[in-house]
Amino acid sequence: MSCLIHLHTIAMGCDFEVFAFGEDRGLLRSAAEVAIEEIERIEHLLSHYLPESEISYLNAHAAREPVRVHPEVFELIERAVHLSEETEGAFDITVMPLVRCWGFYEGIGQIPDSRTLAETLERVGFSRLRLSTGNLTIAFAREGVEVHLGAIGKGYAVDRAIEVLRDAGVEAAMVHGGHSSVRAYGAPPDTGGWQINLPHPLYPDRSLAHLLLRNRAISTSSAAEQYFERAGRRYGHILDPRTGMPVENELLCVSVLADEATVTDALSTAFFVLGEEGTREYILAHPGVQAVLLRQGDEQVEWIG
Ligand code: ADP
Ligand code: MG
Repeated sequence: MSCLIHLHTIAMGCDFEVFAFGEDRGLLRSAAEVAIEEIERIEHLLSHYLPESEISYLNAHAAREPVRVHPEVFELIERAVHLSEETEGAFDITVMPLVRCWGFYEGIGQIPDSRTLAETLERVGFSRLRLSTGNLTIAFAREGVEVHLGAIGKGYAVDRAIEVLRDAGVEAAMVHGGHSSVRAYGAPPDTGGWQINLPHPLYPDRSLAHLLLRNRAISTSSAAEQYFERAGRRYGHILDPRTGMPVENELLCVSVLADEATVTDALSTAFFVLGEEGTREYILAHPGVQAVLLRQGDEQVEWIG
């Protein structure tokens, strides 16, 4: 008889859940435990908050000399830079100085003056990273550059956990990180896939869409949860790394579907920055990627791709 194992852990500031279906309860449990350990391992590798993480070491030293990083960290940063290039800089792992300058890091919310903003932009941009593939080193072009994997790390942890479950022989599984990135393969018994609900960003009791996820990943970005208001204007936590400004466009939220959660996590942030037109252009050039958009003021979502 088939059974379901469900485990969870708190990592990267959110709740990760692992669901595994199969016949062999013992195998499911041990595989799910290893998947949870894998998520925790990734957090220790990538975290900005843990002083002993690879990323903290990189940020502390790479402005002075090239820093050799773990091959896995190098590969992820390489992929992140590639995604920056593909999205014309809309997704950028060097955005952190801007996040701080707008007070999002401390959760206070503040509007920088134009000089502070201009100075901060000098420390932002993926072109300020020097990657050396041969010796796995990364250097920063100047002091004050920072790498922050907040918009891709959860997706990567989800992918790694899925790989662990698949390698262990689990028939069907679903993993999510704080619901913002989800990936699934196979299907629970008598179903065509894993049922995913996309909640309305403003009214979480309301559903925007239900979909069946199978051998696919989905991530969602919106500015509805983290923002501050000044003089009637809303400033959201997703920033345009090219202008330094919080994103203000026609979108309320965007979900992205692709094969890997690393990609969907980064792209959901990028599409939120790019807006509807930029999202359409990207998807036209990248078959296999789909997006579900909700425009401000709209009731219904729009599927692209
Ligand atoms: P979630 O954390 O809900 O999954 P995202 O994946 O969209 O949301 O990540 C948003 C976080 O990424 C922000 O809180 C900020 O720290 C950082 N960020 C903001 N703008 C960008 C950007 N343009 N590119 C990369 N990271 C960003
Ligand atoms: Mg993201």
